[in-house]
Amino acid sequence: MKFSSIVGHQKLKSQLINLSQEGRVSHAMLFCEDQGYGALSIAIAFAQYNSCPNRDKHDSCGSCPTCNKFQKLIHPDLHFALPVNSTKRITPDKKPVSDHFIDAWRVSIIENPNITEQDWYDKIGVENKLGLIGVNEANLILKKLSLRSFEGGDKYMIVWLPERMNQEAANKLLKLIEEPPAGTYLFLVSQAPEKIIPTILSRCQIIRVTPLEIEELGNRLAEEFSISPEDGLFWAKISGGSISKARELIKDSIEVSDNQELLVRLLDGCVEKDMVGVISVWEKIAITGRERQKQFCLYALEFIRRVYMVSLGVQEISNTPNSLRENVSKWAKKIKPAFYSKGYDAINGALADIDRNVNSKYIFSDLSNRFFLSL
Ligand SMILES: [Zn+2]
Repeated sequence: MKFSSIVGHQKLKSQLINLSQEGRVSHAMLFCEDQGYGALSIAIAFAQYNSCPNRDKHDSCGSCPTCNKFQKLIHPDLHFALPVNSTKRITPDKKPVSDHFIDAWRVSIIENPNITEQDWYDKIGVENKLGLIGVNEANLILKKLSLRSFEGGDKYMIVWLPERMNQEAANKLLKLIEEPPAGTYLFLVSQAPEKIIPTILSRCQIIRVTPLEIEELGNRLAEEFSISPEDGLFWAKISGGSISKARELIKDSIEVSDNQELLVRLLDGCVEKDMVGVISVWEKIAITGRERQKQFCLYALEFIRRVYMVSLGVQEISNTPNSLRENVSKWAKKIKPAFYSKGYDAINGALADIDRNVNSKYIFSDLSNRFFLSL
């Protein structure tokens, strides 16, 4: 990862480059951020910069064999320690450690270096458990850093989310942090430094990674989502400079407008008695995933609640955003009063069926039929 491939952070990049040029890179550094500021990419790019034999005053070269291996995250002297837990494949008796998940990690980080903690757990399938950096991992860290460097240069250990390290693991690592073997660097990347065990925290040089510059983030979002620069700027501002938060917000808003479109088509089809139109809508919903189907149902409940409020003349407590007002008022005039409770029950029934893993086609054809008959 070259510094130039990371959005923003010009000042921090220059500070790190200066440290490296002056030979003052600390052996234990803690990069702190709020989720989505880009600290992990910066730590990786810094290790690559320090290792590249052809670097200049601005960046690593990006094309030498060392950079190539760093960019694929396969350099043998670049190690990672990550929060992990047991999964279907890696059961507790196998003592889960990062190495079991390293392929998934490489793929995930190359695809999105701003991965969130939850995304990581979803990718490796630890389900509802939290990840942990335990004593087995700490032993591996010590072992990896005590080996001779594979390629003759320095060795880097990047610990992602050290706040997930337990006391026993931290105790093991204290000596390493106090007296690091020559040519070894430990970069910790934390989103909750206040939760890191104090004896570790106090021994690290702390680098604060600040929110992304709003304009740069806005441009990046506009490009990534093919939206206007004004919209990019809007999302950048309300994300507080976090690229992962901005992405989440944009995806949610796209989902809401999809849900709105599907629901309005469904209601229209039912009122117009257009059975073919109704079928095309429920078929479309039925082929999406369960989470998506739940989102649709929750959206429909909220929409109908608002329409009901407006039909009762209590617009002010319907909590309807401006963008939806026209649509909600239109439906408040069209829907028969008897529909509300039937529609509500039908959607709640569908939600319960989704949780019970009932066949999706059955759930949504049934829901549509109930709408069709009562609208
Ligand atoms: Zn290079």
